Amino acid sequence: MLLHGSLYRQLLRSYLMDNVPEIHCDLLVIGSGMTGMAAALFAANREIDTVQVGLAGELGFASGFLDLLGVHPTEEGRVWDRPWDGIDSLVKSHPRHPYARLDKKDMQAALSDFTSFLEANGLPYHTEPDRNLKMITPVGTIKTTYAVPVTVKNGVRAIAEKAPCLIVDFHGLKGFSGQQIVETLKKTWPKLITRRISFPDTTGELFPEQMAFSIEQPGRRAELAAAIIPHLDRVRYVGLPAILGLYRPITVFDDLQRRLDRPLFEIPTMPPSINGLRLKNIFGQALPRRGVRTYYQHKILSVGYRDSRGFRFDAGWEQPMLTIFSKGAILASGRFIGGGLAADRKQVRETIFGLPVHQTPVHLTGDRSGWHRKSFLDPKGHPINRFGLMTDHKLRPLGNSGKPTYPNLFAAGSILAHQDWVREKCGAGLAITTAYAAVKAWYRLNSR
Ligand SMILES: Cc1cc2nc3c(=O)[nH]c(=O)nc-3n(C[C@H](O)[C@H](O)[C@H](O)COP(=O)(O)OP(=O)(O)OC[C@H]3O[C@@H](n4cnc5c(N)ncnc54)[C@H](O)[C@@H]3O)c2cc1C
Repeated sequence: MLLHGSLYRQLLRSYLMDNVPEIHCDLLVIGSGMTGMAAALFAANREIDTVQVGLAGELGFASGFLDLLGVHPTEEGRVWDRPWDGIDSLVKSHPRHPYARLDKKDMQAALSDFTSFLEANGLPYHTEPDRNLKMITPVGTIKTTYAVPVTVKNGVRAIAEKAPCLIVDFHGLKGFSGQQIVETLKKTWPKLITRRISFPDTTGELFPEQMAFSIEQPGRRAELAAAIIPHLDRVRYVGLPAILGLYRPITVFDDLQRRLDRPLFEIPTMPPSINGLRLKNIFGQALPRRGVRTYYQHKILSVGYRDSRGFRFDAGWEQPMLTIFSKGAILASGRFIGGGLAADRKQVRETIFGLPVHQTPVHLTGDRSGWHRKSFLDPKGHPINRFGLMTDHKLRPLGNSGKPTYPNLFAAGSILAHQDWVREKCGAGLAITTAYAAVKAWYRLNSR
């Protein structure tokens, strides 16, 4: 007998709801952006029985640069060459900044564990002891950052030396313009030139992902090198958009560099970026191997608290497809884009637990003027960027009473209040170091 479509769907839905599988864990990490991935890694390092839920798309947008602290105070736009000195100054003048909750040794351990993991999984990073690096962005501005993929390292040297350098650009590739980079930098870097060439065996519009797949074939690399070599006269460095392989970037990079006989470097493209996708792939493959049970097609739909037994979460897409019983959780659900915070006309809400959010309440100003400034690019920044969760020194979100809402709930990353990671240039640093601190606090509380 054939069932009518809507009746079939209803029966299927009620069957699924009656048969939702249950899983148990010690720690649930909510979120799979930079913070969630870092938290799951640090939990795995401590052999904590961990489940991770979240949509992994956000990480694909990241440039792959790891900023720790670039700018402070943001109003003055002061750029720090030594990030740790910048952090000392920041926590002195902003004692509520999340960095003020952290121990410097833990922050250093967090960054070191994170980059060691990436290196062990085929994506080594380059840092210079205690110094920030300067690197080109896809629009030709210079960005201050703490760590870059090793495929970017020669670009840092080329900028410092203002050496004769060729930026290779491709017909059909959008979101990357060698001409724009040269135009922006020509006053300070006159020996920078660009050439636009055809990518081997393709016509029409090009996408970084498709190029990165293609270049993993040695034959394609030989063709690409042959197309670049005629432009190398008096060139000491060669910069390319970041398309040098998704799964084996170091093999691709070393091989092309050898063929060109020049130090080579990648420049991140506009998002989604290959550097971000490389990170996403590495975490997606390595975390399950380290024992983390990952659910990257699920989100948390509802939560219940069961006192000392911890939490019960319903996870799924639109309908619950999984029930998770967890002793504790780390909330790494991000801000407005990630979905951890949402705004209506009167307030900003935390979307999963309904936790209090530090904000300028509309009832005080009568409108949302306390959220914004009139000028889009106001050097003071917009107050809404500093809205978020307040925590105790263990990174447990505070309730209206000023005490932790739940003994075993921790928050990390961009959802935290009193930081403006975009303008302070501390996005990944904040994500990684607060994830480390939250996992450590959970571990201390639960391993007695
Ligand atoms: C375009 C772009 C460029 C960037 N460039 C840099 C850079 O150059 N240097 C740098 O240091 N940083 C950079 N960053 C920032 C950095 O990569 C992180 O995005 C940032 O630190 C915030 O990370 P997060 O994990 O806290 O939040 P998000 O990245 O927003 O992740 C939040 C996660 O929570 C999940 N989530 C939300 N609600 C739920 C729910 N109900 N259930 C389950 N999961 C949920 C989302 O699916 C997502 O996985 C960049 C970010 C972007 C977007």
